[in-house]
Amino acid sequence: MTDNELLKSEVALIRRIVGGETELYYQLIRPYQRMIYAAAFSILRDETDAEDVVQQTFLNGLAALRSFRAQSRISTWLTQIAINEARMRLRKTRHHRSVSIEEASMTVTGEPVIRDLIEWKRIPSNILEQEETRKVLISAFESLPRIYREVFVLRDVEGLSIAETAQVLGLQQVNVKTRLSRARMKMRELISDRLELRLQCAVLTQEKTLECKVVWQEASNFIDDEIAKTLRARIAAHLRICRGCKSVIVGIRNVIRLMGDPRALPLPLGFSLRLQKRLRSHFSTLKSKHLAVDRK
Ligand SMILES: [Zn+2]
Repeated sequence: MTDNELLKSEVALIRRIVGGETELYYQLIRPYQRMIYAAAFSILRDETDAEDVVQQTFLNGLAALRSFRAQSRISTWLTQIAINEARMRLRKTRHHRSVSIEEASMTVTGEPVIRDLIEWKRIPSNILEQEETRKVLISAFESLPRIYREVFVLRDVEGLSIAETAQVLGLQQVNVKTRLSRARMKMRELISDRLELRLQCAVLTQEKTLECKVVWQEASNFIDDEIAKTLRARIAAHLRICRGCKSVIVGIRNVIRLMGDPRALPLPLGFSLRLQKRLRSHFSTLKSKHLAVDRK
C-alpha cells in the first residue's frame, strides 16, 4: 500500500469508528503499537510504565478521535499524545529518580577522539538475534539524556521527518537537527565501546579537502540530506580519502539501521493481548454508559 492509500483507508476507518463502530479501533492502532511504545519508553525507560502510557494513549486517542484532522498522520498524532502523557508521568515521579543528575552530568561534545576511529563494517542484520547486542543497544539508548532520546526515537526509530519531530516535541527544526546529531554521535560512540567491533587503525591522510571537525559536525545532516549541495559534495570528497570520517558516517548509519529494526526495541511479552483486553473492557464500559443514558 502506498502512503496515500494507507492514509485513505485510515481516514475511512476513523470515520466508521467515530460513527460508532468502536470495536474497529484496534485495527486502526495495531500497526503503531511498537512505535508508540518506543516513544513512551524513550522518556520513561521503564517497560511497565511505558506500556501503561501506551494503553492510556490509545484510550485518550479514542476519546479525542473526533478531533483528529487528517493533515497529520494518525501515527504522529498518537505519538504526540504519548509524549505528553509520558512527560506528565515523568514530572510526577521525578523526585523518585535520579534522572536529572544523570542528565546534567553527561556532556556530548561531538568532538572526535581516538577511540571513535573504529572501522565500522556494515553490521550483519542477524546480529540483532543476539540477546547481548540488544542489551548493548538498549543500555546505550537508556544512557542518553532524555532530550536526545526523544529526538532519536522519533526520527530514527519511528521514522518521523525532521518537521514532524519538531512538531511533536514543540521544538524548532534547527534544534531537532542539533539534538539528533548529538544523539546519533553518542549512540555510535557508546556502541563502539561495547560491541566488539574490529578495531583498526584509521589512516588519516594529509590531503584533506575539509577539516574532519566539520564532517563530524555535519555527519547527521549529511546522512539525512539536510545540507547544502556544495557542502555535501565537499564532504563526499573528504570521505573518499578520510577513513576516520568514513567510519563515523558508516557507524551512524549502522546505529540508525539497528535501532530502527523492530527487534532492537521489542514489545514486552503479552503486550498486545493486554492492550486488547484493556480496550475491550473500556468498550464495554462505554456501552453500558450509553445504555444508561438511553434508559433515562
Ligand atoms: Zn576526516
